Amino acid sequence: MVDLKGQYAAIKNVVDSSIQEIIDNTSFVNGPKVHEFQKNLEDYLDVKHVIPCANGTDALQIAMMGLGLEQGDEVITADFTFAATVEVIALLKLTPVLVDVNPDDFNISIEAIKKAITPKTKAIVPVHLFGQCANMEAIMQIAEEHNLYVIEDNAQAIGANYKYSNGTKAKAGAIGHVASTSFFPSKNLGCYGDGGAIFTNDDALAHTIRGIVNHGMYERYHHDVVGVNSRLDSIQAAVLDAKLPKLDSYNNARRNAARKYSAALAGVPQITTPKTVNNCEGICDTCDCHVFHQYTLKIQNADRDALVKHLNDNGIPCGVYYPIPLHLQKAYKDERYNESDFPVTNQLVKQVISLPMHTELDDEQIEFITTTIKNFLA
Ligand SMILES: *Cc1c(COP(=O)(O)O)cnc(C)c1O
Repeated sequence: MVDLKGQYAAIKNVVDSSIQEIIDNTSFVNGPKVHEFQKNLEDYLDVKHVIPCANGTDALQIAMMGLGLEQGDEVITADFTFAATVEVIALLKLTPVLVDVNPDDFNISIEAIKKAITPKTKAIVPVHLFGQCANMEAIMQIAEEHNLYVIEDNAQAIGANYKYSNGTKAKAGAIGHVASTSFFPSKNLGCYGDGGAIFTNDDALAHTIRGIVNHGMYERYHHDVVGVNSRLDSIQAAVLDAKLPKLDSYNNARRNAARKYSAALAGVPQITTPKTVNNCEGICDTCDCHVFHQYTLKIQNADRDALVKHLNDNGIPCGVYYPIPLHLQKAYKDERYNESDFPVTNQLVKQVISLPMHTELDDEQIEFITTTIKNFLA
């Protein structure tokens, strides 16, 4: 699904020498590289504060802790996503409210959010799934009307732009009150282990969060709030700092691959190729609106699972993200939910298939993958 070796070869000199420097200086934790990367990411995203942390799940949890959400507060998020988002809501004893998504972009449905708001709702967590932003303009408007926080889960869309209806753009993760991301190796900006970060433009919230990631300390050995220990280590920061200047070209390579997949699969009746939304049409580089963390097809009137098996049998890895709606997961079942609330998610879990997607895909691989799919469906 991903090829990280080719990417490493191109940055080996920079990565190896910065890692060696960290070992020579023994600046393993909170070293200068962490600070450098943080500054460079703030500039790249045009966001006032980046707070590095240990992983993307921590980032989400810490963002929610920083906002002071309390037991019983309702937090609305998408039913069709990775479990981390709902997991931290539940861990903090907040009440997750899962809602349905859109059939075209797989992102949280605005209508479903509106329906789910109650007097207890405190926050919305849009997940920018597969590399494209949720409808942030509508979400921010709902949040303003109902006095809610918006926490962007940006683990899958770093580097993507969001295009407003007036044509202006902002980077994914720089729009809500706070955002989280993951630097897991397979993400668009991945390190060589675990890593994550929180972003915000709010000075007071950034201050609160900097204490939370460090055991609730704002002054050494004074623990003002209950915190956690969540750090990005210097070696991971060095890898990320070497990759950040290449992130746009990495995302371009993903878009190129996506464009070739879509061209090769156009006109296959059982296939719906990914759609770009939010005032952006097609897979264009000028907008940068989709960074294709995953290239996800919908398969209709064919046996999706048999196609997965056929691809695997031909040596082609592929993924089903996600095979089970969160509202049907044992850990997150809740009698408040009705199946009729999730028609789209319940369909998508049966239809989706994600093809290999990374910066090193070449024409020959794309040709082989798409031909194998077409032969199966013919
Ligand atoms: C990867 C991911 C996370 C979790 O990130 P980790 O670094 O693995 O903890 C959270 N949300 C989404 C949508 C993700 O894709």
